[in-house]
Amino acid sequence: MSIQENISLKPYNTLGVDARARYFLAVTAADSLAAIGGTPNDRPLLVLGRGSNILFTRDFEGLVLKNDIKGLAVLEQADNDVWVRAGGGEDWHAFVQWCLRRGFYGLENLSLIPGTVGAAPVQNIGAYGVEVADRIETVEAIDLQSGEGCRFEVGACDFAYRSSIFKERCRNRYFITAVTFHLNKNAQPVTSYADVRRALAARKKTVVTPQELSDTICDIRRIKLPDPEEIANAGSFFKNPIISRSLYRELADRFPELPSYPVDDQRVKIAAGWMIEKCGWKGRRVGACGVYPQQALVLVNYGGATGRDILDLAEAIQASVEKRFAIRLQPEPLIL
Ligand SMILES: Cc1cc2nc3c(=O)[nH]c(=O)nc-3n(C[C@H](O)[C@H](O)[C@H](O)COP(=O)(O)OP(=O)(O)OC[C@H]3O[C@@H](n4cnc5c(N)ncnc54)[C@H](O)[C@@H]3O)c2cc1C
Repeated sequence: MSIQENISLKPYNTLGVDARARYFLAVTAADSLAAIGGTPNDRPLLVLGRGSNILFTRDFEGLVLKNDIKGLAVLEQADNDVWVRAGGGEDWHAFVQWCLRRGFYGLENLSLIPGTVGAAPVQNIGAYGVEVADRIETVEAIDLQSGEGCRFEVGACDFAYRSSIFKERCRNRYFITAVTFHLNKNAQPVTSYADVRRALAARKKTVVTPQELSDTICDIRRIKLPDPEEIANAGSFFKNPIISRSLYRELADRFPELPSYPVDDQRVKIAAGWMIEKCGWKGRRVGACGVYPQQALVLVNYGGATGRDILDLAEAIQASVEKRFAIRLQPEPLIL
């Protein structure tokens, strides 16, 4: 285990920002981490997966802990149920496909989300009608303050829309080393999401296998979202706001086409991308960065944009959406 110094983070963030880390350590085993956590540490720590949900606006003066902990194992099986444990540094999409090949179902709607298994609980990744919280049994982590190993049952993770204890209350305190998922052997494909239903109807499919559903979702994503290998981006840059029903009714009176999704009896989720588009940002380029022409929620770096350039663009978007809709958009990625 060796700590490197003054490392460029450009290969380690999908927005392609050329920030530097003062110290950098690739962590391949939880034990080595225990030695770092709990020791007097005056430098800030940052846990990094694939860097697909981070915006660096400056160099990082502390120690970056890059998660390279691997390992996939079937822990237990019953007639319909299976429990699978994955190392935090495993690639998320490769893990989803590994499960599908073995007939372990439940993660197919989350296919092709970039990043690592260890980051999936952090913002409770979600797509096409499924959130990862629905499939998590436990999260294993090292407490970076004490160096102790700990275990969170799903109920202790405070999961909510794009949020968890790891993203909010205890941000940067825990290094997630492994996640155990409770999956099904009997397929129960979730096809309720409008884009998915449309794509399946176009293929004249009424019944789908989980692999077909995964393939369909990959196709939809490839059309709607830029591949970070081709155009640098961090996926959706803003969360869809969740507002009260009364505020929603006021907005819907003024903007009847505003797309909305009920969250519960009290709250409604509204489409940030629609509001950004209505403010004229979709497809707009500002210097080396811009708003992706196919999806207004995605900010892209066409090459050479700094983190500050991207943040300026995000702030300009926030200001115009707030002016027109009186809603303050919240960024989804970690901004450093
Ligand atoms: C093209 C594209 C599409 C995307 N689509 C979606 C989508 O559909 N749904 C969705 O929810 N997200 C989506 N994202 C966002 C991103 O893929 C997810 O948030 C993913 O889980 C981030 O994984 P990562 O390994 O890259 O995390 P990083 O970006 O490295 O880190 C993200 C955050 O998690 C923390 N973190 C990372 N690993 C650990 C760990 N082991 N322990 C503790 N904290 C950790 C970091 O400190 C940081 O705060 C998309 C991103 C891109 C680029």
